[in-house]
Amino acid sequence: MSNKVTINGVEVSTDHYINGQRISSEKKFSVINPNNPSEILAEVSRGDETTAKFAVSSARNGFNVWSEMTVDERSLIMHKLADLIDSHIDDISLIECLDMGMRHESLRNRVIPRGARNFRSYADIAKEYKPRKWHSNTTENEIQRMPSGVSVIITPWNAPFMLSTWKCAPALAAGNSVILKPAEWSPLSASLLGDLIDEAGFPPGVFNIVQGIGEEVGAALVSNPNVNRVSFTGSPEAARYIGKSAAENIIPFTGELGGKSPLIIFPDADFDAAVKKAVGQFDDSGQVCLAGTRLLVHSSIKEKFLKRFLELTAEQKLGPSFDDSTEITPMIHPDHLKNVNDFVSRAKINGDKILCGGNIYKKGHLWFEPTLIEPLSNESEVIQKEIFGPVLTLQTFNDESEAVELANSTKYGLSGMVYTSNKATAQRVGRAVRAGTVWVNCFLIRDLTAPFGGFGISGIGREGGDYGIDFHSDLKTFQVLDNSLTD
Ligand code: NAD
Repeated sequence: MSNKVTINGVEVSTDHYINGQRISSEKKFSVINPNNPSEILAEVSRGDETTAKFAVSSARNGFNVWSEMTVDERSLIMHKLADLIDSHIDDISLIECLDMGMRHESLRNRVIPRGARNFRSYADIAKEYKPRKWHSNTTENEIQRMPSGVSVIITPWNAPFMLSTWKCAPALAAGNSVILKPAEWSPLSASLLGDLIDEAGFPPGVFNIVQGIGEEVGAALVSNPNVNRVSFTGSPEAARYIGKSAAENIIPFTGELGGKSPLIIFPDADFDAAVKKAVGQFDDSGQVCLAGTRLLVHSSIKEKFLKRFLELTAEQKLGPSFDDSTEITPMIHPDHLKNVNDFVSRAKINGDKILCGGNIYKKGHLWFEPTLIEPLSNESEVIQKEIFGPVLTLQTFNDESEAVELANSTKYGLSGMVYTSNKATAQRVGRAVRAGTVWVNCFLIRDLTAPFGGFGISGIGREGGDYGIDFHSDLKTFQVLDNSLTD
């Protein structure tokens, strides 16, 4: 019998989805509502080693079927899944809003539709692939891109539907079967995806979803010797464990990890746009890997910037995720609220200056005030470690080289933003910032064909477009001696 809960009128399975079936575990974990943390939304199956083994053997069988299908046949099913996501946007947005606490308006209009776009784009990218063919010396050469097997995809709790679909789509497009393990704080939208996978017509075992705790079923999946690829998004701490398992089995592993990104504002920038974007880094309560959390502002405009920043921040409305006028949503979980609060408490002890906010908004609730900190030095913990909450820092620079030095002064390197109206400045600084993506006068605009990943401890490997499909494939060089074959 399959287990379900009905949440605000939407039925959600609390089971795993393996081999085209709902499978239950005896042990469960609780999922809470961040807008009302005493409310338990669901008790979800807590997978273990046996669950992981079953998922891998099912995925192996699924792989045998999926990898033999043509690219066109696979693309058709992926398009069907994209269409089904589009027709279920209301339910998925509602459940993700309750589960993760992200703003409903942004889920409904941007984030969940991107899930459909992920499958659609990869279905098309796979079809457009033209293998490189060339002649050299005495041979005809061709690069053959072969499906590599079973891909395990491990995802974090922020924007879980968008991130999970972004990582599963290239693996399926490569011809691999997939086991998705969503994060235990926000697993419910992935469960809805299970229903749609079924309806889209994926053969059993091709696309599996396993629920549970990272250190338990997650660790069992990534260490299984019958897995061929591990694609992970999450913290550098977990990536170190997962990377060790991948190394043990000698399989490729990608990590899209945390960030501590700089947002650099030059005096010639469009001031209003820049300051608005700086305050915009509080969106989703700062639970965004790419956020420009370190504001680097030219010293000549510091006072003007700070005055306007504080005015705009004071207008930020803390409120429920379902209210369209809300700007600051709750933190996902009491443990995470505590992490954020502990960072700020240590900053106060360290002598860093709190320029605004700095406190839990209301006892018993999960909102944290939007906070700006002027650090005592560049070595302060709030500069050097990812906080993943509504906490930004403010530092000044006097010239371009100091801006670049500060920008590159942490171990992270996920993204960077440069606000300037000068083309040469944009080119020089953009090139010098060590980060996987640098945006000039904009933020978060993504082209799904571009490589995505991080420098330093922000990541290893690249996904996105053909880079993602290549990661999940085995590339073979195929050479035939000239004039050696007959028909
Ligand atoms: P996390 O590392 O704690 O967990 C991520 C996932 O890994 C979860 O599904 C968890 O269950 C699993 N996991 C944990 N330990 C594991 C283990 N030993 N073996 C296998 N699986 C394990 O991260 P989080 O707190 O869920 O997410 C926040 C982090 O993710 C932040 O650092 C954030 O910057 C990062 N992030 C990065 C990107 C990116 O694209 N670079 C995107 C979103 C989030």
